[in-house]
Amino acid sequence: MLELEPAPPVVEPPQRRPSGRDAVLEAQSRTLVAALGDCAGLLPKLQVHWNPRMRSTAGRAWSQSGKVELNPLLTECAPDEIDRTLRHELAHLVAHHRAAQAQRRRIQPHGPEWQQACADLGIDGEERTHRLEALQARRLARRYHYVCPGCGREFPRVRPIRRPLACAPCCNRWNGGRYDARFRLVVT
Ligand SMILES: [Zn+2]
Ligand SMILES: [Zn+2]
Repeated sequence: MLELEPAPPVVEPPQRRPSGRDAVLEAQSRTLVAALGDCAGLLPKLQVHWNPRMRSTAGRAWSQSGKVELNPLLTECAPDEIDRTLRHELAHLVAHHRAAQAQRRRIQPHGPEWQQACADLGIDGEERTHRLEALQARRLARRYHYVCPGCGREFPRVRPIRRPLACAPCCNRWNGGRYDARFRLVVT
């Protein structure tokens, strides 16, 4: 969908992507895991790292070492995506830890133990995918919906619109292609 910009185009500074160990996310993870009550043994080894080499995978959990890796591209997804992916990966560590405590040898990566851990960590019904594209398609594409008051065309957006944007087809038809406030996109 075309967009018309009445003001000179704005350029946003590129976001700096995180890398390396993240003390803030580690502290959050400890709080989440400590609240479970039965995974204290997991706390000392818990680590959260940003891994710039990750491509399409959103997150990864290393159950033996207690390490979670996150894809820095998550910072360009919807704001809650980092938290949700972190909890998804923590649930792998929790499920593994509980199974080990119970002397159980083998659990499925996304089986009932992991699903229970997700529920305990506040993401009941979490999907199994680790794929970044899937996360983006699922949660970003439908995040913000705008509509042209003139023609009713819909303008789904990844991010909220922070400046006036008007419907190009209507501006072309009724105002010679120049910005026309009558066709400024509004939130649905
Ligand atoms: Zn998983
Ligand atoms: Zn329109």
